[in-house]
Amino acid sequence: MNAARRIGIAAAAGFGFLLTPLTLAAQQAGRGRPAGFLDVLQRPKFVAMLVLGIAALALLLTKKMRNGIKVPFLLLSTFLFGIAANLPVKAFSGFSMHPSPICSVAKAVLYGFRTPMMVTLAVILFLTLVGPKLFCGWVCPVGAAQELVAMLADKLGIRRRRWNFRFSQGVRVGLLLLFIFLSGTAILHTVQGEQAIALSLYDYINAFHGFEIVKQPTVMDTVIHFLPFLLTLAFAFVVYRPFCYLVCPIGLVTNLVEPLGLFRVVRTKPACADCGVCTAKSPCPTVPEILKDAAVRPDCFSCAVCVNSCPSGELEFRVR
Ligand code: SF4
Ligand code: SF4
Repeated sequence: MNAARRIGIAAAAGFGFLLTPLTLAAQQAGRGRPAGFLDVLQRPKFVAMLVLGIAALALLLTKKMRNGIKVPFLLLSTFLFGIAANLPVKAFSGFSMHPSPICSVAKAVLYGFRTPMMVTLAVILFLTLVGPKLFCGWVCPVGAAQELVAMLADKLGIRRRRWNFRFSQGVRVGLLLLFIFLSGTAILHTVQGEQAIALSLYDYINAFHGFEIVKQPTVMDTVIHFLPFLLTLAFAFVVYRPFCYLVCPIGLVTNLVEPLGLFRVVRTKPACADCGVCTAKSPCPTVPEILKDAAVRPDCFSCAVCVNSCPSGELEFRVR
């Protein structure tokens, strides 16, 4: 199947996925209620997210996602979806971090699915269902920052350890269960009037806060605000995407959704020379599972390292 056809399939799948909420929104408008979902989806931030996600897919399918393109692409995502909203530039005022991907899950569980949260989740799920974690791999600013650090670590010759996926998945699931328990019991809470309002555990470990330049009341508050992001960057030198594999609930949700994705990394030929180059060069714990064609795999962030490194072109991004 040629690249143009694959991109066509991806676009068709994406259109189909978006059709349901768009239709619902149109029906709402028809009943005289505001079409909130559509309004929010048309904001520059979400349009840019979809455009970058699909552009990444096109580059992956045509095997053009190499370091010369990866670095500017990841810098662009980091800038647009992480840094831009802090600048006093009107064009970037619509690129607010809020709701961050984590908040779109955590705050929605706590306070209900508001439209910006639903749109954020829809964009994330859409880009996950089209390609292997296209949102996490190429759009998310925290993901992009970790990927850039991993590439820098490679350049500096720093040896990174690979995750034991059972361990990292156990921590990620454990944090989600702890979040649900703490939210349900309102052990973490604030008081408004006479009412105790549950707070999110993830607010205390949310690396997305690191992109938000806001004046904190005390030095300690400033440290707490930036610490998760700084720790994430520091650990990204020695393990691949520590925040994604260990903490982020979106990482967990997209890992569960990933097997349904239209495109993924697959072995294209039955005979593999078993040279081990792809496994040795890849940053993730996923490649051995791909070679075994395992149904359940650790997260693939579509970084393209395994595909680009296979000397016989055995691995490819293609329809699963
Ligand atoms: S797992 Fe979370 S932090 Fe990592 S790339 Fe995905 S949304 Fe971003
Ligand atoms: S090396 Fe291959 S399997 Fe691992 S994250 Fe990158 S594209 Fe996915």
